[in-house]
Amino acid sequence: MDSSLQVLFDQVVGRNPGEAEFHQAVAEVLESLGPVVTKHPEYTDAAVIQRLCEPERQIIFRVPWVDDRGDVQINRGFRVEFSSALGPYKGGLRFHPTVYLGIVKFLGFEQIFKNALTGLPIGGGKGGSDFDPKGRSDGEVMRFCQSFMTELYRHIGEYTDVPAGDIGVGGREIGYLFGQYKRITNRYESGMLTGKGLTWGGSQVRKEATGYGTVFFVEEMLKAAGESYDGKRVVVSGSGNVAIYAIEKITQLGGTVVAVSDSSGYVVEESGIDLATLKDVKEVERGRVGDYVARRPDARLGTSGSLWDVPTDIALPCATQNELDEAAAATLASNGCRIVAEGANMPTTSAAIRVLGDAGVLFAPGKAANAGGVATSALEMQQNASRDSWTFEHTERRLDEIMRGIHDRCLATADEYGLPGDYVAGANIAGFIHVADAMLALGLI
Ligand code: GLU
Repeated sequence: MDSSLQVLFDQVVGRNPGEAEFHQAVAEVLESLGPVVTKHPEYTDAAVIQRLCEPERQIIFRVPWVDDRGDVQINRGFRVEFSSALGPYKGGLRFHPTVYLGIVKFLGFEQIFKNALTGLPIGGGKGGSDFDPKGRSDGEVMRFCQSFMTELYRHIGEYTDVPAGDIGVGGREIGYLFGQYKRITNRYESGMLTGKGLTWGGSQVRKEATGYGTVFFVEEMLKAAGESYDGKRVVVSGSGNVAIYAIEKITQLGGTVVAVSDSSGYVVEESGIDLATLKDVKEVERGRVGDYVARRPDARLGTSGSLWDVPTDIALPCATQNELDEAAAATLASNGCRIVAEGANMPTTSAAIRVLGDAGVLFAPGKAANAGGVATSALEMQQNASRDSWTFEHTERRLDEIMRGIHDRCLATADEYGLPGDYVAGANIAGFIHVADAMLALGLI
């Protein structure tokens, strides 16, 4: 890291103790910005980086609710409003027991640059709770969501801050959250939340968008190398929204997904994962990958190691942060993997990224590769603002164009800074410059 940026980084660590994931996300961006601060002293003069590392606003609140046994439960809610230089704060809500301020801040920080890269008018933010929806009844999830929104509603709105889903927050939770906002405010304000249901203001392709977008991004990487998905083996970790729709699109484009996972383990099926069965198990029954194996005679449950041990051409980590470590990266590379693209946010450790780079594996960071989700959220906001709704085909075409645009911007920026093929530098620099220029224009705020 450039020595002047190292000083800034040390200040960030000092000001935000104990937030390892946030430190990691900041380090990853600052490592790319050396040549930018050399070329553009105006960013340093206006303390753009220090300002970006300090959220505009952070809200932490109590979420009390009553479980099915009649016991009172207390969770902690967060919304970190990081940057509104380019538009209203935009970013999802994560409900998972591991959520604490450091996770929300890493996600919010990433979101600033990801959203900037889409070229759409959205700022960056993120929120969530340490509430665990797993094993909770629909009634419990509803009461939690209602209590969460009873505090959150005063901080958000169509022109202020527009939450959406993330891990643990899907269509069901968005419905309960929207219902409570509408009830409290007496406003049918569609554009205050994205990921809504198709019958009440949602957008076609939003559910599919993160997974599809990642696959479109990789398609562009393949094209740039003169290749296609035809005959390629792909391994996808996770089996949430991102993974499921990545698998769907890869299969449509001629690739074969040979392994998939969830927090209970992984499954290998050499002839290709059967999407209908996976959707049934994960989306309808909220089951485990073991339930998938029970229904597919040719599938086997991984008994040792991880799914990164399965030989593959392309690996898409689509589960959660830091799921792909140094050892996994080395195994992937030695088994001939050519491309790793992040469907999840920061699933690859910093050491693993270095291993992949040294081995010549192309690597696409999440802020570029998984930006299709939030980009389609912005398309949902566009439709809400014009009280319109677009067809699946039209929306998917827009998503594809946006992903192509991000891909090309990353490569062009990497070229401009003398780092051809470096998607990490390209994404960090292009995202940063877009938001930094807006900050300069808006004055010291
Ligand atoms: N949680 C998603 C992300 O990581 C989507 C956010 C949104 O649609 O606002 O980008």
